[in-house]
Amino acid sequence: MKTEILGIQFDNLTREEAARRGAALLEEDRFHYVVTPNPEFILDSEKDSEFRDVLNGADLVLPDGIGVVYSARILGTPLKERVPGIEFAADMLRCLNQREGRLYLLGAKPGVAEEAGRRILEAHPNLILCGTQDGYFQDEEAVLLKVAAAQPDLLFVCLGAPKQEKWMARWGRHTGARLAIGLGGALDVFAGKVERAPETWQRLGLEWAYRLKKEPQRIGRMVRLPLVLVRAAGARIKQS
Ligand code: UDP
Repeated sequence: MKTEILGIQFDNLTREEAARRGAALLEEDRFHYVVTPNPEFILDSEKDSEFRDVLNGADLVLPDGIGVVYSARILGTPLKERVPGIEFAADMLRCLNQREGRLYLLGAKPGVAEEAGRRILEAHPNLILCGTQDGYFQDEEAVLLKVAAAQPDLLFVCLGAPKQEKWMARWGRHTGARLAIGLGGALDVFAGKVERAPETWQRLGLEWAYRLKKEPQRIGRMVRLPLVLVRAAGARIKQS
């Protein structure tokens, strides 16, 4: 069942339920893509209808930011919990490892996907890392051919939003992958270049604050995020 939050249709699932759904998608022999919108996606999709359609066209739409969870609450349609993209990705890696499937990592700066792949393989020795490609390419079609030639089952697309979502919607089905996930900066985390917030910060819903502390240059991007709560409050008042 979907829960609409400011124009985006989210799947209302726990992390465990999302992992089960992802595992089922990985079993089906056709292409699926998963998006992990945070408040920035919601605000950007207000002015970019292609982005909104691509998000709503995904097989799974998981609430990645605490701001999405708060907005849902303000709107009177609470979501079960936040499902961070990085955690869903970790669940899918476990699943792929069990079925000895093939993984392709696309995105981030040169060298990052390789290092992420090396660390992922250390933790999941039964999966096959079938290819990597940095995210600073010009020729989309050439990259598509490279990905398709590697015959992945699972594909992480980490180009930042909305580029990664549009890439998946446009090219994904030609890759031959069963499941592609748009994961923003996740390869930087898997490669150990960026640290995730400690669990206490995560539990308190303060992962964004930790990120800001570590990467103060993000203030320009983050300063508009409370706007999503204002939009949710406005929409709720209009409803009543
Ligand atoms: N990136 C990329 N190609 C681009 C722009 C960005 O591969 O043309 C990568 C960038 O190196 C980073 C990720 O995409 O690894 C985006 O990270 P960001 O912090 O913006 O995403 P978030 O985690 O906030 O969703």
